[in-house]
Amino acid sequence: MNYQDFLVEHFLRYAAIASQSIAGTGVIPSSEGQWTLGRLLCDELKALGLINIDQDEHGVVTALLPGTRPAAKLGFCSHLDTVNVSLSPEVKPQIIDYQGGDVVLNAKEHIVMSAAEHPELKAYQGQKIIFSDGTSVLGADNKAAMANIMAALQIIVEEQRPHGDLYVAFVPDEEIGLCGSKVLDLNKFKPDYAYTIDSCALGEVVYETFNAGSVYFEIEGVTAHPMSAKDNLVNPILVAHDLISLFDRLQTPEHTAEKDGYWWFNAVKADALTCSLTMHIRDFDKANYLKRKEFTQQAVEQVKRLHPKAKITVRFEDVYENIANNASPADAPIAKLYQALSALGIEARTYAMRGGTDGSCLSARGIVTPNYFTGAHNFHSRFEFLPLESFEKSLQVTLKLIELA
Ligand SMILES: [Zn+2]
Repeated sequence: MNYQDFLVEHFLRYAAIASQSIAGTGVIPSSEGQWTLGRLLCDELKALGLINIDQDEHGVVTALLPGTRPAAKLGFCSHLDTVNVSLSPEVKPQIIDYQGGDVVLNAKEHIVMSAAEHPELKAYQGQKIIFSDGTSVLGADNKAAMANIMAALQIIVEEQRPHGDLYVAFVPDEEIGLCGSKVLDLNKFKPDYAYTIDSCALGEVVYETFNAGSVYFEIEGVTAHPMSAKDNLVNPILVAHDLISLFDRLQTPEHTAEKDGYWWFNAVKADALTCSLTMHIRDFDKANYLKRKEFTQQAVEQVKRLHPKAKITVRFEDVYENIANNASPADAPIAKLYQALSALGIEARTYAMRGGTDGSCLSARGIVTPNYFTGAHNFHSRFEFLPLESFEKSLQVTLKLIELA
């Protein structure tokens, strides 16, 4: 079996179904395409002989391939949605034999990927690469993972490779707040540990992510006509200003890097009577994350004392956790991943991700879920591309993990 062609075949089938998530719909999944894609996966899982196949009321697809030998129970998770960055939802992939230089993605629309602006292309000279037609993302994030998981299952079944229990989950709406992994029913997805395949270039490994929370402030002031405002009016916007000014201006996304945490005031809505504020808290260190929450509560108390006539409420929401809170590199989920890479001669490129994955959410829910590479570059961009050799290596990692479990 030619694994590369096989992977490409799967990828093109999934890429043909537009499945952008849409922020703010209030329903999961947020788009019809994710239902359609999920149904296709259910059909394919059924044809492969998996059991307990389910597409639940949130469009979450789960299934189990029962083991043929004793082993750790493994889970694989990918997301159904592609990101909406104001590009076309329709993806028209093309495979280009890359011989160096600029890549004309779309002659008609004059969309060219410049080799000077994208030095990452150079490493793939002489290789086949999948690109979009420049009017959309490619959606290797995360359909490369979907192709990888489905191809791996088919290879295992058809080649009768021995394996332990393999759980799969395809979850919607990752790109708009890890919504699918939050509602994934853990009675239907019960591995000892799991993996997402949602990172970029060859060799990438992520087991450290932020601890993440959202904070919602509601401020109600006192309105008054200017003629009677003296000692009476309380301006909620200025109360918000006082609150914001208590937070260190150097601990913000634009002033931090690597493993620094931050506060991010990222939404405000106000009028003369009320002001709503939203803030994100991010920190790799769990203790620091908790300290940031405590500081926030104290800041609110301080502003309450300053403005006794204002009504101020604050609500905290934990969104996801650092995967490393619940596992060290010596533990099986992470150790086996490095073992798989090393067995395949792939150099590991570990980095702490200033964000979260479905795995950060699953880890917070008790299933340690590190993340490895799809092989692609430039997620969330019209210049997203997927070199086939790296794509195949990503599949080899999946097969090796199943073997090592
Ligand atoms: Zn992704």
